[in-house]
This record gives sequence, C-alpha cells and structure tokens, in this order.
Amino acid sequence: MNATSTVFAPRPELLSGWGGHPLLPCNVWSPRNTADLQQLEQLPDIIPRGEGRSYGDPSIICDGNVILMSGLNRLLAFDPDQGLLQCQAGVTLADIQDKFIPQGWMLPVTPGTRFVQVGGAIAADVHGKNHHRTGAFSNWIREITLLHPDGRMLTCNQQVNREQLLATAGGMGLTGIILTATLQMKRITVARIRQRQTRVKSLEEMLSLLAAEDEQHEYSVAWLDCTATGNSWGRGVVFFGDDAQLNDLNEHQRLEPLQLRHPRELNLPWRMPSRLLSPAVIHAFNSLYWRTHSDREGLVDLYTFFYPLDSLRNWNRIYGKAGFTQYQFILPEQRCESGVADVLEQVSHYRGGSSLAVLKRMGAGNGLLSFPLPGITVALDFPLRPGLFDLLTKLDDIVIQNQGRVYLAKDMRLSPRHLEEMYHELPRWRVLRDQCDPGRQLASSLSRRLELT
Ligand SMILES: Cc1cc2nc3c(=O)[nH]c(=O)nc-3n(C[C@H](O)[C@H](O)[C@H](O)COP(=O)(O)OP(=O)(O)OC[C@H]3O[C@@H](n4cnc5c(N)ncnc54)[C@H](O)[C@@H]3O)c2cc1C
Repeated sequence: MNATSTVFAPRPELLSGWGGHPLLPCNVWSPRNTADLQQLEQLPDIIPRGEGRSYGDPSIICDGNVILMSGLNRLLAFDPDQGLLQCQAGVTLADIQDKFIPQGWMLPVTPGTRFVQVGGAIAADVHGKNHHRTGAFSNWIREITLLHPDGRMLTCNQQVNREQLLATAGGMGLTGIILTATLQMKRITVARIRQRQTRVKSLEEMLSLLAAEDEQHEYSVAWLDCTATGNSWGRGVVFFGDDAQLNDLNEHQRLEPLQLRHPRELNLPWRMPSRLLSPAVIHAFNSLYWRTHSDREGLVDLYTFFYPLDSLRNWNRIYGKAGFTQYQFILPEQRCESGVADVLEQVSHYRGGSSLAVLKRMGAGNGLLSFPLPGITVALDFPLRPGLFDLLTKLDDIVIQNQGRVYLAKDMRLSPRHLEEMYHELPRWRVLRDQCDPGRQLASSLSRRLELT
C-alpha cells in the first residue's frame, strides 16, 4: 500500500443518473488517488462513476459499490508541439475547456454538456455535433491506463492492447477503471462559432438539407418540433456551424480572439412538481421555440453553441420527482427516412409527445459497444409517466426492424434481447470483458438489467 493512502470507508447514499430514475441505495467510495483505488481490489459489484450525467443506470448499482472518480482530477502533462494532453480520468471536460481554450486548444469532440468526466466520456464513447466529420471521443484518445478490479494495470493504445481499448470505449465502465487518458487536442484561433440556422417545414426537407450540406460544415444539428401536427408535422430548425477565423471578427473582437465567455448560469434550486410539465406546456414551449428561431446567421460563443443547457444548472429538476428519460436511437443512412417517420408517428400518438427532440447525421463508429454508425440519430426527451416504457419498447422494435440501435448512456429500460439485436459486436465485447474482469466484479444496474454481468 502506498504510504500516502489511508484506509477509507464507504457512505450509504441514494443515487440516480441524470434522469432521476431509478434511485437506488449504493455504497459510495471517494478515492483520492490510485493507492486508494487499489484498496478496493477484490470488492464485489464495483462501478466507477463520473459526474452522473448519463441518464439512466450505468453508474449506479443497488447495494453495490459506486466509486466516485472526481478525486482523481489532475491534469498531468501537456505537449504544445503535438497538442497532447495527459490527465486523470476524473478531470471534467469543463476543467479542460476552461484552461485550454484561452491558450488556443480545445477538445475536438464534446457532448452537449461540459460537466462530464474524461472517464465518463470514454466509457460512453460520447459524440458531438461534428460526429459526421470528426468521429466520436475515442477517435482522439491516444492512450489510456486501465485498472482491473483484481489490481492488474493495463496500458492501451493503437499498438498495444488495442482490442481492450475498443472494448472500453463505449464499454460503460465494465472493462476496468480508466485511470488516465492521453487526448489529442485541436488548435483554434478564435473562441467562437460561425452559425447559420434555417427553418424547415417538414422532416423530408430537414433530412435533405442535412444530407446536402452537412459535409461542408464542421458542426450540424437540428431541432424538431415533436408536438406539431397537421401541415406543421416534421417542422424544425437546422443549425450548421464552423470554427470562426480571425477575419470573421470585428476590430474590437480581434483584440482578444480566444477570450472564453461564460454565459450567465442560473440554478434551479428545487424539483418542480411533475404535473407542471403537462402536454399543453410542452406544446407551448415547442411552439415558442419555433417562433423565436427564424433564419439567421452570425457568431456565437463556444459555450453557448456547444452547451446551451449548461446555463441552467440542475435543469433536470424541471421534470420533478418522477424524473425523465431520453430515447436516443440511430438508424443507418438507407433506412432513416421511413424509419424516423415511423418512430415519430408512434410518438405523436403518445399523450404529450416528446418534450424535446434533436436530430443529427453521424459517421462511422469505433468501439465495440459504441453507439454511432453512419446514419441519422434522434434524441427524444420524455417525462416519466405510466405507459411510457410500453411506447419505448414499441420504438425498440421499429429501430431493430430498421437495423438501428439505442444509446446506452441515455437508457434505463432496454431489454437484454433487444440489446443483442442492436449491438452485433456484443459477443466479441463479452470475450474481452471476461479477459479484463474474469471475476465479474465490475457491475452496474445497467449491466445487471441487460445481462452483461
Ligand atoms: C445535458 C446533457 C447533454 C448530453 N449530450 C450528449 C451528447 O451530445 N453526446 C453524447 O454522446 N452524450 C451526451 N450526454 C451523455 C453524457 O455525455 C454521457 O452519459 C457521459 O458518459 C456522462 O459522463 P459522466 O462523467 O457524467 O459519467 P457517468 O454518467 O457517471 O457514467 C457513465 C458511464 O461511464 C462510466 N465511467 C465513468 N468514469 C469512469 C472511469 N474513470 N473508468 C471507467 N468507466 C467510467 C460509468 O461506470 C458509466 O458506465 C449528455 C448528457 C447530458 C446530461
């Protein structure tokens, strides 16, 4: 045992993911260094947890051991010649962006919130608005170190233990605890995005605009009004973005092109009563969004562009005690137009529809359990209500008929049978997982539910 470590104990706590459901009793450990982590060797039912921003149950386990990684949050080294950053896995993307953007470097891939840890971003192999051009987070990992529950330490990169890296990116924490990562950063000259937003009147128009133009742009994403009916069905707003250059700035802005501007942050202090988010309120919110987003072009600050929801801390409390979920699925290119329409059709019959719907084109995936494949992904938010999971199971069938899959980082209710039909590399992943964790000590509520452990 390392001289600096001390014996430490867990504390009992009720934990959930970002969706607030399920809420489970866990034994929570807070290691501060690798030596602390090594004391947890041989414990059964261990799962590492980042910032708890996955929506469902991948970073909790009923009566098991949840390891908070936030104490292992040091930036270790930065090579400015190659743009390589080495850090501990508990560092958040916010820590990295805040420090490096003003120096002209940013993460090449970032999800829609910066409050996730590097370990969580790797374990879910997260994607951003530029997936069609840049790929997922794992494309930019140069190396990781993994701690297996039996105490073995493994270095993984493209040359050494590459298969274990492929099983870990998207492997939802079940192949080992990621201790450190070396990430390729991207050079920027301006901390802004040139954004264009265009209203579209139908799903067909949205998909054609994305297919025609998104290869020309670094970033693309679309908002879809899931509550619109009749002639307005399928309407939405398509956003394209590109990294701004010095010549996009006015004289004043050129004085400090890399100045990182933090939008004002508000905090939602309490959970709102669930009934406040009635179908009428959801409809009104979507209509307002449509009305306020006419065609426009201009410069947007990086954080406003990448992390619009981060400005309202604890925004998940809007959904009240009952919580919410996001159903994010992807369909391959050739199946997407009819498949997406079939899903949206089912959703339109569900009371209240989806509170928020986002659509994007994606490129090829990487890891064995990574979510992306070339096609269209749609993310649909729903308040948790009786009958919702029946609808989502129907959607699973449509997704499978169209050779698609759902995203595990957002899931809280998929069945093992559906998982097998969606993730075809699962058998290979299982073999590698068994090599990494022969004693099956790593387990989460997600892994139990999906019969992964
Ligand atoms: C507002 C919002 C927007 C989002 N937008 C996107 C998006 O655009 N694209 C996208 O891909 N995702 C998105 N997500 C999902 C989010 O990026 C992922 O769920 C991510 O995994 C959360 O990271 P975390 O640090 O909170 O990890 P947690 O939620 O705590 O854990 C997630 C998984 O990572 C594992 N894990 C965590 N740390 C480690 C470690 N050190 N070693 C091994 N395993 C570990 C856990 O065991 C668990 O399986 C969004 C989430 C929110 C709340």
